[in-house]
Amino acid sequence: MSVSERTYIMIKPDGVQRGLVGEIIKRFETRGFKLIALKLVHATPEHLEKHYADLKGKGFFPGLIKYMASGPVVAMVWQGLDAVKTGRVMLGATNPLASSPGTIRGDYALSVGRNICHGSDSVENAEKEISLWFPEGIVQYTHNQAIWVFE
Ligand code: UDP
Ligand code: MG
Repeated sequence: MSVSERTYIMIKPDGVQRGLVGEIIKRFETRGFKLIALKLVHATPEHLEKHYADLKGKGFFPGLIKYMASGPVVAMVWQGLDAVKTGRVMLGATNPLASSPGTIRGDYALSVGRNICHGSDSVENAEKEISLWFPEGIVQYTHNQAIWVFE
């Protein structure tokens, strides 16, 4: 855990279509995380198969790839203290029916196959996902808010 930990957060096609982009970004921004990369991407099935390589073979995999390739996603990298674990807590459980109110999925979703957002599940996977979605690299800048967010 460090203040420079990074996580890959993605608003899925249903989150974009439902107008939840601003709401999801706002939660990470106001929590104190630093936005270090952001873009709208209509990903190919091949790219999404790499992103979800660990799930290849699952019964829901073809449907998942079709859903994720059905429209643009918002790809983002957020940085800050314990970003990976905290990001997952902010997202809620994979199945929105099990997500607590106050989490993104718990407030805006009902179905596991339309759960509006993705967040890395480990620091190692976060770094892999960041390289996959941002091969061009990430902009460096000083976040002046940091002195007010961290001791
Ligand atoms: N998923 C699904 N059915 C399932 C399990 C997962 O459609 O039974 C989808 C769901 O959109 C989930 C994604 O596959 O977000 C990736 O699954 P994972 O287990 O990695 O969940 P996550 O890390 O997104 O919470
Ligand atoms: Mg996952």
